[in-house]
Amino acid sequence: MIRVIHNVAEMQRFADEARRDDKAIALVPTMGFLHEGHLSLIREAKQHGSEIVVSIFVNPTQFGPDEDLSAYPRAFEMDCQMAESAGATVIFSPDSNEEMYPEGYQTYVKLEELPNHLCGLSRPVHFRGVATVVTKLFNIVKPHAAVFGKKDFQQLLVIRRMARDLNFDVKVIGAPIVREPDGLAMSSRNAYLSQDQRKQATCLNQALRQAAEQVKSGVTKVGDLVNAAAALIREQPEAEIDYIEIRDPETLEPVSIVDRPILMALAVKIGKARLIDNMMLEPT
Ligand code: AMP
Repeated sequence: MIRVIHNVAEMQRFADEARRDDKAIALVPTMGFLHEGHLSLIREAKQHGSEIVVSIFVNPTQFGPDEDLSAYPRAFEMDCQMAESAGATVIFSPDSNEEMYPEGYQTYVKLEELPNHLCGLSRPVHFRGVATVVTKLFNIVKPHAAVFGKKDFQQLLVIRRMARDLNFDVKVIGAPIVREPDGLAMSSRNAYLSQDQRKQATCLNQALRQAAEQVKSGVTKVGDLVNAAAALIREQPEAEIDYIEIRDPETLEPVSIVDRPILMALAVKIGKARLIDNMMLEPT
């Protein structure tokens, strides 16, 4: 049976014992409502440890005041079953926000440059919340390795940078994006979509694939690629583009020509769901 831990001190004791027994701990941080994307991270984590800890915590500090914190979908029992079947050995799920942010809490981790791009612009407190909660999870779960999805590409860069800058002795692993058969990146937020919006949502991946093909056939100007992607997305009646950007995959700084593998990332609102996706564009 998978072990479920709801409190910080108990999780730390468990981690200390595992380390004393020379077991490697691998962590998969999530906000729950698990899907095949999360399960792929758990399977990857099994390559890096024997205690596989899945954290489930809808972290309030990474949501802005007008975002979907209270509406965020939850399914704890189902999550435990799915995580166990994928090979998790422990669920760490703090039983309240106060368990993670007790009264008087005032310490945050903030990166200087990476959050000033892409999602960081439309979600100003987001990456501060992510860096803070991941720091706390590293200190609570004491993992040797932690696995993050490339679906949240900017988040992965933020965590990698933070781990390096703050000397966390944790191997940060990036795992590929898992998609639905029609290309839509799996996301807990896809649950917000009506049937019709779900069909429209395939435009994110279609726009990325179109750009990847254009690059393969010799189009290199970022302006042309972005315009073509925007035109494709605007065909969908409810799609509202937040951003479409083509950026250096390490610094996220703008580029004007795709002359090497470059990141294309986009965020589109469809109804209540803000969806993100990305792909590397690789010239031949
Ligand atoms: P979330 O529960 O949405 O905060 O995501 C938890 C982790 O799962 C993050 O590292 C995400 O990048 C990752 N993840 C979410 N969706 C996918 C997906 N479709 N493919 C791969 N990883 C994903």
